[in-house]
Amino acid sequence: MISVRGLHKWFGELHVLRGIDLDVDRSEVVTVIGSSGSGKSTLLRCVNYLERPQKGRVAIGGKPVEDTEWAINAMRTKVGMVFQHFNLFPHMTVLGNVIEGPTQVLGKSKDEAVETARAYLDKVGLSDKVDVWPSQLSGGQKQRVAIARALAMEPEAILFDEPTSALDPELVGEVLAVMKELAAEGMTMVVVTHEMGFAREVADTVYFMDEGVILEQGTPEQVFGQPREDRTRAFLAQVL
Ligand code: ATP
Ligand code: MG
Repeated sequence: MISVRGLHKWFGELHVLRGIDLDVDRSEVVTVIGSSGSGKSTLLRCVNYLERPQKGRVAIGGKPVEDTEWAINAMRTKVGMVFQHFNLFPHMTVLGNVIEGPTQVLGKSKDEAVETARAYLDKVGLSDKVDVWPSQLSGGQKQRVAIARALAMEPEAILFDEPTSALDPELVGEVLAVMKELAAEGMTMVVVTHEMGFAREVADTVYFMDEGVILEQGTPEQVFGQPREDRTRAFLAQVL
């Protein structure tokens, strides 16, 4: 579903991604762990071309993403993204946020978009918040709106960049519960996370990133239970 080959990214002199290969099958849940600054966000942002990689290639559904505005926009309708800081449109209600993409990008009628939006807001447990403004929501509720907004585009995969890192501890669980449900339903997901419990429990494959490379990857049992690399062991000792 998602294939990344030999990806390199420089910010000026800084070589942030140094040859990344990543494969995500349909319905697979991949979690990416690693220390701060190792390039996890940059990797996700390169997968959907929020950043342009200078070298390497990304293919979605077997089709290489071409570096044209049209191709990138088409790809983004298939690959959703959920951010650490929610990135809701503050001047739109919850419903407005969720129907924006389907009406503006997919060209759905407003009625159809509203119907779908209500179904996804119901799914994330927010049917009573349809008409409120983002500023009236808790962090956990905002993030669930962001997930409903991604789902409303009916993507083939969703990328999550530390979706619970900005939340108060007591709100983390409600967001992880929604993500677990999506995983169980077969959504293809790539999740950068510091929630090691989630990374271990929900992932099919765990990638450990260190200084711009994938240092090791494997099942949660392998990576958490029997890490091959000293760096992985040291990282896990710090965070577990
Ligand atoms: P964290 O766990 O703290 O979110 P990360 O693994 O997501 O870290 P990145 O945000 O991908 O790390 O950053 C990797 C490196 O690239 C860091 O050194 C960062 O300062 C640098 N970097 C990221 N974005 C930019 C940018 N737009 N311009 C310049 N440098 C950047
Ligand atoms: Mg990051």
